[in-house]
Amino acid sequence: MLNVWEPNISVVIVGGGFSGTLLALAAAAAPRLDVVLVERERVAGPGLAYGACGPDHLLNVPVARMEVGLSPTFARWLVASGADLSAALEEAGGDLARAFVPRALFGAYLAERLEEALAAGNGRLRRVRGDVVRVSDRPVPGVQLADGRRIEGSHVVLATGNLPPRPPRCRDGGVYDSPLFVPDPWHWEDLNGLSSDAPVLLIGSGLTMVDVAVMLAGRGHRGPIWSVSRHGLLPHVHVDVAGRGPGCEPFLHPTEARDPVTALRFIRAAVARAAEQRVPWQRVMDAVRPVVAKVWAGWPRVARERFLRHARTYWDIHRHRMAPRVAAVLEPLLASGQLQVVPGRITSLELVPGGVAATVRRRQSGRAVALEVARVVNCTGPRSDFAGLALPPFDALREAGRITPDALGLGIETHGSAVVDRHGHASTWLFALGPLTRPAFWEVTAVPEIAVQVHQLVDQLSRASLAPHRPDARLIADFVNLGEGI
Ligand SMILES: Cc1cc2nc3c(=O)[nH]c(=O)nc-3n(C[C@H](O)[C@H](O)[C@H](O)COP(=O)(O)OP(=O)(O)OC[C@H]3O[C@@H](n4cnc5c(N)ncnc54)[C@H](O)[C@@H]3O)c2cc1C
Repeated sequence: MLNVWEPNISVVIVGGGFSGTLLALAAAAAPRLDVVLVERERVAGPGLAYGACGPDHLLNVPVARMEVGLSPTFARWLVASGADLSAALEEAGGDLARAFVPRALFGAYLAERLEEALAAGNGRLRRVRGDVVRVSDRPVPGVQLADGRRIEGSHVVLATGNLPPRPPRCRDGGVYDSPLFVPDPWHWEDLNGLSSDAPVLLIGSGLTMVDVAVMLAGRGHRGPIWSVSRHGLLPHVHVDVAGRGPGCEPFLHPTEARDPVTALRFIRAAVARAAEQRVPWQRVMDAVRPVVAKVWAGWPRVARERFLRHARTYWDIHRHRMAPRVAAVLEPLLASGQLQVVPGRITSLELVPGGVAATVRRRQSGRAVALEVARVVNCTGPRSDFAGLALPPFDALREAGRITPDALGLGIETHGSAVVDRHGHASTWLFALGPLTRPAFWEVTAVPEIAVQVHQLVDQLSRASLAPHRPDARLIADFVNLGEGI
């Protein structure tokens, strides 16, 4: 048994993607915090977003937006890394801070920072490779690995990030069980052996679909690529990469934006004002982003539900945008008709000799479209509905009432980062970070917001370490306040 329970606060982090790694680095640099980072993959740091990608997959934001307070900065590291940044620099007018660089570089940067901190070797940061299958506080907080090891601490942080998507509900005729279906769009090995002339169906039209289309283009794929999604809308593109021209001041106040309709009215008005001054709408979206969590927190469930039902798709395509060079890869595919985006719903999939027959019911016209493809790739985005999820360690935590899936299927309930149990109590030992905590913040899936969340959690844990025996109620109040700055 690996016992890390010291008089210090000892934090066991489940998941070494961006969220868990940044927490590990920040906590290990703080006084009186000991850290064990548990990651199932060989390399900790990149996680899904910055690990499952090729050289053509670029960050969705420029370098400056990926700075998270580490030393050296990402920009300095990039310069020293010797990576070929010529295309990114050319596009950004020579300004690295505004350049869109390959995602894998950010993953390598994080992995290196972690290795450096581990090598510094003061014993306060440890990395364990393993798959966490159980999390409990009996007899003390800790985690159980699939290989039987148990790691104990005083606090456990769930930073398990993005889950693979769930297959869309339709008559699948055994396709979901066949090798022709790729359930996890980031397992590209499943597309090995695909003939370059073969037709492919990508379910979804968001950034995950864009990732797969870019990967296929990079492999020289010549066959038709069909993308089917309810609205058939592609993500918009970042503009004005060099960042010249006027920006947009933050303008949305939570008390004004008391429901989705009012909030969208304010945003539309700001976009119109910006257009008069030749400021692109993208700048308006960027100006809204810092207040989104507070606006979201002020909405009752019915307002959130309305937003998700009517506005989510439109929010997503404006908020989660493509780097211009990624759009440049898609443009010729779209222009030539090799990539076709169909608005509609897949009603059935069926195995036929040599492939899969798909029936799509087109949006609005209701007309049935028949497609025959060699592979079907599920690009519907990370799954977040924890209510029905049979996945360790979440299933046992849910059954024990330790976590509460939110009613809208976005993640698990938290007060700040403190996990809320089935009785509505914020835990004093169990926390969560990143995409899991979407119910509390909505905008907590990208680097800038997660970095704020991480630093607030470290701050709270550090303060808790100075008063380890104070009453739980005080601790709870601290963690409830975590939401404040996000
Ligand atoms: C494809 C993609 C591209 C993105 N691009 C950008 C971008 O350009 N800019 C931006 O700001 N944001 C981007 N994001 C947002 C991204 O989600 C966050 O930036 C961040 O990477 C989330 O990190 P995470 O550590 O919470 O999750 P993940 O990256 O999913 O990492 C979770 C880690 O936990 C591990 N794990 C899970 N379960 C267990 C277990 N039981 N035991 C042990 N280990 C476990 C996994 O192996 C994984 O390494 C992107 C997201 C995706 C999916």
